[in-house]
Amino acid sequence: MALSRIVFLMYHELELPGRQLVQSEPGYVRYILALDTFRNQMQWLKSSGLRGLNVSDALLYPAEPSVCITFDDGCETDLIDAAPVLREFGARATFYLTAGFLGTPGYLTADQVRQLDSLGFEIGCHSMTHPYLSDLSDAELGREIVDAKLHIERILGHAIEHFSCPGGRYDERTLATARRAGFRTVANSRFHANSSSTSAYELGRVAILRDLRLEDFAATCQGRGLWKKQLQDRTRQTVRQVLGNRIYDKLRATVLGEGHQ
Ligand SMILES: [Zn+2]
Repeated sequence: MALSRIVFLMYHELELPGRQLVQSEPGYVRYILALDTFRNQMQWLKSSGLRGLNVSDALLYPAEPSVCITFDDGCETDLIDAAPVLREFGARATFYLTAGFLGTPGYLTADQVRQLDSLGFEIGCHSMTHPYLSDLSDAELGREIVDAKLHIERILGHAIEHFSCPGGRYDERTLATARRAGFRTVANSRFHANSSSTSAYELGRVAILRDLRLEDFAATCQGRGLWKKQLQDRTRQTVRQVLGNRIYDKLRATVLGEGHQ
């Protein structure tokens, strides 16, 4: 039997008419979907018979056609906008929260985090303050991974198991710290589908960008065309390694109009 491969989708804040986003630079906005676009995608999933799973479900790699749905950053729209749509179409999801942003304008409050949890959505962690983890000292890593986990667990009153890396950046120390902290998985933003042979500490995810057409969304969910993105991503990584994160970001912001993930 063929190995069951599941594409993990990565979403962020959603956009509604008249509502301000938490950031406005183009590098942030390219990752932001209009609520209607997100709704069309969830509708397509349902009508195509693909199940929407959270990370814990997806790790079982069921044979039924599925995608894993994840959200980064912990914006307020997770609860107000994404959750009702997910429920409407019977999809599950994992929300990775930036612990230190909770309760600030545009992000979930502690009470909203508990609501999301009680609706049956899975809560994960996306660091304390959203830095590039590969740039940090050991002490800083502890705060961003261990303290962030404890902070979210205190809000929820139960353990959490899943972590995602801000900007997709990580190194061996990041993964070792996450493992020691008790995280069962770490997700990044590399363009590959996952299967039972993928390390649970290097789960790839595909960023869903605001200008993605529905037919390309469909292809992504079915794992088609990911190799093209992989190739672009590998080129980016090589340039990033040569230049370092800071110079790379400046270049990316000015030349490519890309940024935050
Ligand atoms: Zn993020």
